[in-house]
Amino acid sequence: MPASVPAKKPAASAAQQAMHKLGLVRDIDLALHLPLRYEDETRIIPLKNARDGETVQIEATVTQSEVQLRPRRMLKVTVDDGTGTCVLTFFSFYPSHQKTLSPGAVLRIRGEVKGGFWGRQMLHPAFKLAGGELPQALTPIYPTTAGLPQPYLRRAIASALQRVQLPETLPPGTPPPVLPYWSEAGLHGLLGLREALYFLHNPTPDVALATLEDHSHPAWQRLKAEELLAQQLSQYQAKRERARLRAPALRVPPPAAGEQSLVEQFLAVLPFGLTGAQQRVCREIADDMARTMPMHRLLQGDVGSGKTVVAALSAMVCIAAGWQCALMAPTEILAEQHFGKLVGWLEPILEPLGKKVAWLSGAQKKKERAAMLALVASGEAALVVGTHAVIQEQVQFHNLALAVIDEQHRFGVAQRLALRQKLAHAGLEPHLLMMSATPIPRTLAMSYYADLDVSVIDELPPGRTPIVTKVISDSRKDEVIARIGAQVAAGRQVYWVCPLIEESEALDLSNATATHTDLSEALPGVMVGLLHSRMPTAEKKAVMELFTAGIMGVLVSTTVIEVGVDVPNASLMVIEHAERFGLSQLHQLRGRVGRGAAASACVLLYAVNDNGRLSDTGKERLRAMAETNDGFEIARRDLEIRGPGEFLGARQSGAAMLRFADLEQDIALLEWARELAPSMLEQHPLLAEMHISRWLGGKAEYLKA
Ligand code: ADP
Ligand code: MG
Repeated sequence: MPASVPAKKPAASAAQQAMHKLGLVRDIDLALHLPLRYEDETRIIPLKNARDGETVQIEATVTQSEVQLRPRRMLKVTVDDGTGTCVLTFFSFYPSHQKTLSPGAVLRIRGEVKGGFWGRQMLHPAFKLAGGELPQALTPIYPTTAGLPQPYLRRAIASALQRVQLPETLPPGTPPPVLPYWSEAGLHGLLGLREALYFLHNPTPDVALATLEDHSHPAWQRLKAEELLAQQLSQYQAKRERARLRAPALRVPPPAAGEQSLVEQFLAVLPFGLTGAQQRVCREIADDMARTMPMHRLLQGDVGSGKTVVAALSAMVCIAAGWQCALMAPTEILAEQHFGKLVGWLEPILEPLGKKVAWLSGAQKKKERAAMLALVASGEAALVVGTHAVIQEQVQFHNLALAVIDEQHRFGVAQRLALRQKLAHAGLEPHLLMMSATPIPRTLAMSYYADLDVSVIDELPPGRTPIVTKVISDSRKDEVIARIGAQVAAGRQVYWVCPLIEESEALDLSNATATHTDLSEALPGVMVGLLHSRMPTAEKKAVMELFTAGIMGVLVSTTVIEVGVDVPNASLMVIEHAERFGLSQLHQLRGRVGRGAAASACVLLYAVNDNGRLSDTGKERLRAMAETNDGFEIARRDLEIRGPGEFLGARQSGAAMLRFADLEQDIALLEWARELAPSMLEQHPLLAEMHISRWLGGKAEYLKA
């Protein structure tokens, strides 16, 4: 037999493969695969009691069965259960169906009753010959996938549930979560896990279905509490592991008499004084870095709150202590801009010491790159700024002690993991400072970032006038363009962001190009530039330079300017098709203006749909943008509208997404888990280990990134 002919796989393994794809490998995985909903097959309903729109199970005799050809081919079957009749309609059917549905047959039928003009009807109901006992429990309907039929999955889960070991992992004497006193779980505490799982897979028909659907039933509470606990445990475990690692303790040596320390020199060079909030977070960071436990700190601050200078000052502390610092940004433009700023601030101080700021990017010429790599390896580069290129393999640091990641949410979990592995060397880990303008609501911070310490800049630099946001229909585009003309005439600059077209980068581009042409024509004498992600780096750089220098009046761009770009003279931001953007993204975009003292505005242009209206959620979202400039408030509303899964994005949440618990609703359970996790790790490490592995299996490693 030729080797290239693959052996034919037995059919059972297709379903098994599908199960693997769903992550259903161990018995416990199957046991934790919970139903989406249930069907009640425990009761037979007399037809006369079946209400319009209700899904019911009936038992009835076929009185008539015929195939009609008009208006299309269908099988019409009339059944009678002694209390009433019902017509079953099938558009697709096999001869075997026809046989089962022949007159005289007594059937058990399940479907949605419609009471139309012609009497009761059911479309494509499920049916089988009557007889056999009625099930005692509701029938679970599981989430499944192609190639994995419901009955197969049901059997697999039922038998896994028989085999699976479910030892209690909650330490004896664990206090129950404080739940509302009116809820069952609040009254009686948590169910046992075994009890809860059995119930959720086979609930008794007397249960209030609503409590299963909204996950408020005590069995659900137990599952959600378990899940949150597993997640908290793994986070705390990661933190404890980190506590065992060593990092260089970074302390600024006292300056010689009559001289300033490097940090003092830096503050003297800065064209402004730090805000109170900036001073506070700088202290928090410096305190962390002075310890031998590696820092793992998230610096949160709204757009424009001035995180860059905090990063620069932290870098200065590190450099003054005699170590190297790296700063990584997600895009070329942003990294470039940081580089420019940091060179301006730091080089005057570093130069006399014979130190430099190095630049690393993927787009760099080979020769330049080699020179930069040499600077980094020798330690002559005290600070290394760049894109992902900073963590690439060829990069050898001399003595890296601090890594700053700007807009950390833009980096994937895997990248963060790679970063930490890459940077640890000679037994020493670097300190890690992650910065984000996407404010993470408290519940998310508590759960996903339990391993992180968080510093918050809650104050904007002085002298900013709040951005006025207007929501305007794009039928009034001409007025907006006129306003642009006025702004540019007054010496200000304008961003025009083109719609996001998710399906197609090419469309994105053609859109931006067309807008660029339109605006150039409508605004004679104004330099209108174009920026998009597929432009060669050198061109992007040239455009950014013209805009930064104030020569270019209007910058048309796709969303590449979203993060971090800082041109304080820009005072008007127009976002086309604003209804297509997420709230946090709009907030980021809007944050490109209002960076100087001038009054700034953001115009959200929306397009109406075919019937001349913007959808309700669309309106609600844009209204939220107009109502507040507060990034935290916006994040909260975003969370409300989109839910945490989408808010975090698959990248950010990694494999850690909660399956059952809802961070908004289950805050009491989250608090409980948070309280319990550290003491459980301390006093019952084996139980903690069992608990983590039950829930996270092989995923725990991933969560640490
Ligand atoms: P973000 O937090 O969004 O990264 P940036 O670091 O880009 O914000 O800072 C926004 C702008 O505010 C920059 O132009 C920066 O130079 C300026 N800035 C930062 N801190 C202060 C301050 N304390 N006083 C005045 N301007 C400041
Ligand atoms: Mg920034």
